[in-house]
Amino acid sequence: MLDLKMYINGQWRDSSNQEKRPIVNPANSDVIAYAAEGTIADAREAIDAAKAAFESGVWSELPAVERASYLLKIADKIEENQEELTRLETMDNGKTLREAGFDVGDAAACFRYYAGLITKPDGHTYHVADPMQAMVVREPVGVCGLIVPWNYPLLMSVWKIAPALAAGNTIVFKPSEVTPVTPTKLFEIFEEVGLPKGVANMVMGAGPIVGNEIAASSHVDMVSFTGGTKTGKHIMRTAADNMKKISLELGGKSPNIIFADADFETAVDYALFGIYAGAGQVCSSGSRILVEETIYNQFVKRFVERASQIKVGPGDDHHSEMGPLVSQQHMEKVLKYIEIGKEEGARLVCGGNRITKDGLDQGFFVEPTVFVDVKPDMRIVQEEIFGPVVVIQTFKDEQEAVKLANDTDYGLAGGVFTVDGAKALRVIKKIRAGITWINSYHPTYNEAPWGGYKQSGIGRSLGTFGLEEFQEIKQININLQVEPIGWFEK
Ligand code: NDP
Repeated sequence: MLDLKMYINGQWRDSSNQEKRPIVNPANSDVIAYAAEGTIADAREAIDAAKAAFESGVWSELPAVERASYLLKIADKIEENQEELTRLETMDNGKTLREAGFDVGDAAACFRYYAGLITKPDGHTYHVADPMQAMVVREPVGVCGLIVPWNYPLLMSVWKIAPALAAGNTIVFKPSEVTPVTPTKLFEIFEEVGLPKGVANMVMGAGPIVGNEIAASSHVDMVSFTGGTKTGKHIMRTAADNMKKISLELGGKSPNIIFADADFETAVDYALFGIYAGAGQVCSSGSRILVEETIYNQFVKRFVERASQIKVGPGDDHHSEMGPLVSQQHMEKVLKYIEIGKEEGARLVCGGNRITKDGLDQGFFVEPTVFVDVKPDMRIVQEEIFGPVVVIQTFKDEQEAVKLANDTDYGLAGGVFTVDGAKALRVIKKIRAGITWINSYHPTYNEAPWGGYKQSGIGRSLGTFGLEEFQEIKQININLQVEPIGWFEK
């Protein structure tokens, strides 16, 4: 049984009220850990530690190359512990070992990417009108509050922590209350590589308590959040009180458009991957498949045939292709959406049930589910379900495809399948979303910015854009002719 403590000012700590929360394996409901249940007082202590560390300059004033060397050591340690981190991620989140293994590899690569980026030249100089040299430099924002969800417990942590530390900030990090295991291991690595105390702090506990304190505190200069749009709006409102910088990566209801001329089996295959990877608990999931009407019936038939063959089971069983949902509460939410779909009059053509046979009755498994005959205004078409539930819509032509694709409040991701290159680009350019693929779905790269339009968020993770989120921009004007300006008469 793991005993997970918070990491504040270089010390492993229980909660100030000694409370603990059981952490459950979603494949079988076994309690795998007890995690410290942080309080507002704990959050404040972590914030104070981060503020003191920032102001001391112990990290922000370290030469970039030295900060980079810490990040490189962290990447090495993640790789050394790849097997354990993968196993723990599967145990805590439920995802398959294959999925978790990719996340751990990506986490190490992300630290390396930002270690490289921070040592590259940046800044600008300008020739301005006066005898003046103007230059622009980038500086850390200060204390960054980082709040992450449960769908990629390790990787989402790293997408925020790596650029925040690279830029010279100090951090107060909060994992999701349901998945604190691999984030705790990550902080053990921070301790091992000797990150100066107070630079990286972790508090656990409920979002509305500890997370809210991070968003509200006037000692936190920026809050970077990934999670649901509703929580994102709450954080934005809370952060507005002291005008802190925000970065929000929120939900989606992303369209995956399949034209009749697409390579059929490739389109079916990616469409399956687009929705059922991570059991649909991925912000960019292709949860609305739009298919050109001439191949609609053929597509639905083949898609359902393949979806019903997906092997659902515990993530640590090498035969499993899709794991459970993260928690009982989340499974109930997804099952409720399936009922809503039926009540709204959509036709269920695949799945739709919790899986309890073959020893899965203690886990939170849901069948790959497909709805057809949907209308654009149905809740299952408009709202993020965040589970293995897809709606397949049909369209007549390019114009209608674009209209339907853009017809939600979200704008995170989108895909187009066609062999007509010009059509693909025409359509993608009209999709109001920040992350898009042509003849592909889901691949993510450290080099490329990740984030959404509309209610899918503000700002970008990853790439140079992801680093800039954690930097302030300063202009410095140097007078090259040091003499009085003479504006007022003597
Ligand atoms: P939330 O968005 O509520 O949680 C994400 C993180 O925010 C967690 O660390 C959570 O803490 C924290 N949090 C919750 N409330 C607050 C608050 N008031 N102030 C500050 N932090 C807070 O996700 P849920 O688990 O509730 O999921 C709800 C829905 O959100 C899902 O069904 C899905 O649709 C969407 N979602 C989208 C994700 C994405 O990647 N875009 C990821 C996760 C969810 P804690 O959990 O510890 O309470």
